[in-house]
Amino acid sequence: MNTDKLSFRLETVAKYVPKESRLADIGSDHAYLPSYLVKNGQISFGIAGEVAKGPYQSAEKNVMAEGLSEKIVVRLGDGLEVIRPGEVDCITIAGMGGSLIANILENGKEKLQFVKRLVLQPNINAIAIRSWLVENNWELIAEEIIEEDGKIYEILAAEKGEPLRPYSGVQVELGLLVGPFLLKRREKAFKKKWAQEKKNWQRIYEQLEVAAPSAETEEKKQELVKKVSFMEEVLGNEDSEWS
Ligand code: SAM
Repeated sequence: MNTDKLSFRLETVAKYVPKESRLADIGSDHAYLPSYLVKNGQISFGIAGEVAKGPYQSAEKNVMAEGLSEKIVVRLGDGLEVIRPGEVDCITIAGMGGSLIANILENGKEKLQFVKRLVLQPNINAIAIRSWLVENNWELIAEEIIEEDGKIYEILAAEKGEPLRPYSGVQVELGLLVGPFLLKRREKAFKKKWAQEKKNWQRIYEQLEVAAPSAETEEKKQELVKKVSFMEEVLGNEDSEWS
């Protein structure tokens, strides 16, 4: 692929990488993101980190083919272990589940001391990231929700600060689930995503209704009722339009 042009998803991640950052892109796969950022003059130094041999080799091959080896180093390793303390001030982690991204941050906490900006793009379960950020004194500074090729993605940018500030005027539990900035804006992709989730939860509830009763199913049902009622609050009567 020619990294002059990125997918809309990665382009949106790139938008939140501050100019002149020293970046580590964790789970970089082909190293498309750091290559694009270096070629556009947005960053001067990048690490492409990969835990898997195949993607690591493909990142190395692409960085070399693009003539970017002086500015991008490709390293094989798990999560933030590819970073030396103080080496980068911005980290991007994109295209994985939210729990995996939160685990990577948790396991590499000591590497975050000199990092000023995190740009995270979970494919699912963004709540795991928002919860981790709040528990670790990172403040969400921006969120985006986009649709590309029929899939909806969330992009979260955070800096160290007041973790609950973005949740002011928002029910925290709901804000963690759907995103405090996204909740305030309620864009088209947001309504579409949560109308689909609501429908899915209602379907699971119906299945549990006919399942053998147990304390576990009862607990799960109550959780689903709560989530559906959150969504009724968020979407009002509009969701039939999106589902
Ligand atoms: N970041 C690219 C993007 O958004 O297009 C690639 C996403 S790809 C679906 C996920 C990549 O993360 C895979 O190449 C996988 O090997 C890598 N990965 C998963 N867990 C990782 C970890 N703990 N540390 C580093 N890389 C990891």
